Amino acid sequence: MLPKRLVIIGGVAGGASAAARARRLCENCDIIIFERGPHVSFANCGLPYFVGGEIVEADALLVQTPESLRARFNLDVRVQTEVLSIDREAHEVRVREVVTGHEYTHGYDALVLSTGAAPLKPPIPGIERNGHFTVRNVPDVQRITDWTKDCRACHAVVIGGGYIGLEMAEQLKRHGGLTVSVIEALPQVMAPLDPEMAAWLHAELRANEVDLHLGDPVAVFEPPRADENARASVVVLKSGQRLPADVVILGLGVRPETWLARNAGLEVGKLGGIRVNDHLQTSDPRIWAVGDAIEVRDAVTRDWAVIPLAGPANRQGRIAADNIFGRPSRYQGTRGTAILRLFSVTAGCTGPNEKTLRKYGIPYNALHLHPNSHAGYYPGAEPIALKILFAPDTGRLLGAQAVGHDGVDKRIDVLSTALQGNMTVHDLAELELAYAPPYGSAKDALNLGGMAAQNVLAGDVHLAQWDEVAGLDPAKSIVLDVRRPDERAKGFIPGSLHIPLDQLRGRLKELPRDREIIVYCHSGQRSYYACRLLRQRGYQTRNLSGSWRTWKMATAH
Ligand code: FAD
Repeated sequence: MLPKRLVIIGGVAGGASAAARARRLCENCDIIIFERGPHVSFANCGLPYFVGGEIVEADALLVQTPESLRARFNLDVRVQTEVLSIDREAHEVRVREVVTGHEYTHGYDALVLSTGAAPLKPPIPGIERNGHFTVRNVPDVQRITDWTKDCRACHAVVIGGGYIGLEMAEQLKRHGGLTVSVIEALPQVMAPLDPEMAAWLHAELRANEVDLHLGDPVAVFEPPRADENARASVVVLKSGQRLPADVVILGLGVRPETWLARNAGLEVGKLGGIRVNDHLQTSDPRIWAVGDAIEVRDAVTRDWAVIPLAGPANRQGRIAADNIFGRPSRYQGTRGTAILRLFSVTAGCTGPNEKTLRKYGIPYNALHLHPNSHAGYYPGAEPIALKILFAPDTGRLLGAQAVGHDGVDKRIDVLSTALQGNMTVHDLAELELAYAPPYGSAKDALNLGGMAAQNVLAGDVHLAQWDEVAGLDPAKSIVLDVRRPDERAKGFIPGSLHIPLDQLRGRLKELPRDREIIVYCHSGQRSYYACRLLRQRGYQTRNLSGSWRTWKMATAH
């Protein structure tokens, strides 16, 4: 029997989507949204851009209001109303009006939890000091802008190099005019990227004068000493370094907000998210859960994962409503497809990275290349640092990462689509992509990636990785640079032999036959030609994946 009363807890991404879809499927039922905060359906993802002033009016962040949702969808939206508990036997929720403290119960036939995720606040001494802010909702960013204005903040310290931390760092620096430090406990920012890809973001932060501290976690937040000028705190790092801060942004990640579900006895997984089946139904068949609060299946590893992103939350809201109203649609799992703008570069990823593939024992090949964003002869072409992970036997695409100034977004979206369609690198080589010189190349970056991967699968070339170079045994391997002399003059891999590609056939005698030759050029194409030439003449070779560009960036400090 279809429900008459649908109650939704949490009225932003997943909750609002579920409610709107539910109304389209059931005109006659009661749909009520309880939202603890003052706003529903606001643009969490736009919050950093309000701090920086790129989004000028806070109202622009309010995609819908309780009034607009009532007018269009006849939804009963109760903001500033927190759900305190769920009585699964009586099919009731107990709620409290935040402003008046008035409490009451409300019955449901079906319940959707879209309670999101709360910013992490680890027990670092001093973390609760004034001038420290997390970023979750509109009041948070209003508090940040008020504080920075009122105390005439000059220096911000952002703790955490995930995407929220980096977006906040960019916005405070670029539009707020503050000097900014970013503190990251790990040796790299943006954990979903592999380290050699994150290195491009480190370079971009430094190029924009962001003071970046990697591998140096916060030990304590202290009040400033007499000789220190800090309106908020002095951030003391494990290394002992002291960073006076007028404002501190805590971007330390998020944790599924599941206390309501736990207290109601719903099953919660080992990662702390509410467990749901493919129909997004919890362990109670009358209760569904969506968004940042749930654990989902990673589409590649098939293990449980917590992936707090807006796209999945919105789609899950729709799927939950479908199931509640008798349409058994399924959620197919998440690939963690994500994108970040950081000053002038864009970084994107889809699917697991190398670290994750190793953890799950999934065999893979890693290929780096640096194709142009569009035809090289048309003005404005920019190289894209592209990494493709694929199965060594079938060539099935497993994951991809890209960083660059132009064209990253569409390549990551195509790669995400390919991943979802279980496509292989052979399919990438064959992709028919729209081409005109301002947009792409006749052989698009992704065609080239597919073709280069096919060369690996065919055994035409073997790859060496940037992190193998430092550990090579000179008795067994040499490194060969086949770039032009003017390129070599700008820098080279220490200890490498130099023979420009065009001289190679005439200088073969200089190369050992009893040792492996790791060949590199600027981005991997000419070194591939060299590998083919040498292999056909009986030399053992490997092409340095991504060549000089990847090695140089990955090993820069
Ligand atoms: P939310 O949208 O967080 O909504 C949960 C709501 O539930 C909250 O408003 C909360 O008040 C309410 N609630 C919780 N408990 C109760 C209760 N007991 N009673 C009543 N109400 C309750 N994702 C991207 O994909 N791309 C981005 O660029 C991006 N940028 C982001 C930037 C920022 C600053 C933030 C904070 C998030 C960003 N995200 C981004 C993540 C994205 O916003 C979330 O994945 C998405 O909003 C999750 O939707 P949700 O419905 O699960 O939770």
